[in-house]
Amino acid sequence: MSASHPYDFDLFVIGGGSAGVRLARISATHGAKVGIAEARFWGGTCVNVGCVPKKIMVQAAEYGAWAEDAAAFGWKNLDKPEHDWPTLVRVRDMEVARLSGIYSRMLAGVGAEVFECYAQFVGPHEVRLGERVVSAARIVIAVGGTPVRPEIPGADLALISDDLFTLKERPRRVLIVGGGYIGCEFSALLHGLGSEVTLAFRQSLPLRGFDHEIREMAAESLAADGITVLPGETPVAITLEGETRVTRMASGRVVESDIVLFATGRKPATRGLNLDAAGINCREGAAIAVDDDHATNIPHIYAIGDVTDRVNLTPMATAVGHAMADSFFGLKPRRASYENVPKAVFTAPPIASVGLSEEEAALRGPAEIYTTRFTPMRHTITRRAGRKTLMKLVVEAGTGVILGAHMMGEDAPEMMQGVAVAVVNGLTKAQFDATIGIHPTAAEEWVTMRVATRRVGEGAAKAA
Ligand code: NDP
Repeated sequence: MSASHPYDFDLFVIGGGSAGVRLARISATHGAKVGIAEARFWGGTCVNVGCVPKKIMVQAAEYGAWAEDAAAFGWKNLDKPEHDWPTLVRVRDMEVARLSGIYSRMLAGVGAEVFECYAQFVGPHEVRLGERVVSAARIVIAVGGTPVRPEIPGADLALISDDLFTLKERPRRVLIVGGGYIGCEFSALLHGLGSEVTLAFRQSLPLRGFDHEIREMAAESLAADGITVLPGETPVAITLEGETRVTRMASGRVVESDIVLFATGRKPATRGLNLDAAGINCREGAAIAVDDDHATNIPHIYAIGDVTDRVNLTPMATAVGHAMADSFFGLKPRRASYENVPKAVFTAPPIASVGLSEEEAALRGPAEIYTTRFTPMRHTITRRAGRKTLMKLVVEAGTGVILGAHMMGEDAPEMMQGVAVAVVNGLTKAQFDATIGIHPTAAEEWVTMRVATRRVGEGAAKAA
């Protein structure tokens, strides 16, 4: 600290997850004096208890199905594949440790000062780190979120998604509560690894917010695969009988399982930050209130990533962190766009989506819906149930602009990344049609859907 430089840091970042690490690293690369604190693990939820270990488990589950399917193509002696859970745990945890290490080394490599402890506000420019108090010109909160448990008797008998990654052996019977991303993904991967899975959710369909037709297909596919799907169910109590968890639903239904997983959403992890010491306002639900530049009500304090509860996805968080670093220190003021953020759910088969659903488009005005449903070539041979593909384009009537694309089927997330470039850039159905397909692929269907399946949203146009 000096008279010309009144703070210890130009930027102090609280939280070493996807958003915070990107912001700190790029800011330091631009020449800023940066400090960053992380109390639990570098890389945050995504690297340690989210996207990365989850995807490794999804991939492990895929091999089981492939081994079974291979027989249909003439492979022999594969009829009794067995999965060794401890091997998966070992390779998964090694990869997580490798990536988490890269995150912390990257920060040290660009000269950021790294604090492995909890950070707490003690004033608008001051943060306590254990015994030490540091000051910064700008402070950014990037502490992410934490799973929520329904407040019912016996809730502490249930696990949350973080706990799933600590299991030493495969659970035999699993009840998953919640039909969102985590509920659907963990149902599919645990079923694929050999657990008996029941998925219970309180709506009539899983994946609220996704295109309705995709949600219907998700429910059908999960059930066809062998998962017990229980729509319209809300747990009211869990008890322990011997080693068995007995979950009672509001409907009166009782489900017995070895573990119960609550996949019932996440909330911003602001507890313990002592936001009041800096005078920072939160929205309802503890999310930090920010403007379009991610500034809080205190002009030099910002918040990014899941703690703002906007689009709670890793690539969104890193994009916002990067844009913020460029704006603060790179002489390139810019904002990451929250429009048309592509999404994926790693079920079996997976789901991916970008832009407006059919229902959202219909509220805006007339739209043409193009759909195709088919059995992928592989499964015309294997005849595996629950592996149909649905692809769907939502097109603005008149202009032909593609407003949304949705898919459930093998490789959906891999395909959707490319389709998202077209949607983000406002390409039209005519431009898709003028593109030659790659044959034989499922992806060629994106450019060969010639006749609209239906037209929606006429009423919206009249109302407007
Ligand atoms: P979601 O918000 O996706 O889903 C929560 C589910 O729990 C919903 O079905 C919700 O029902 C239900 N629910 C909420 N409260 C209760 C309750 N008290 N009793 C019964 N059911 C309840 O949350 P997740 O936990 O699945 O995931 C958290 C977030 O993490 C996601 O929203 C996403 O942002 C991110 N994520 C992203 C992934 C990806 O990109 N592939 C993977 C995993 C997580 P209702 O619909 O009625 O509210």
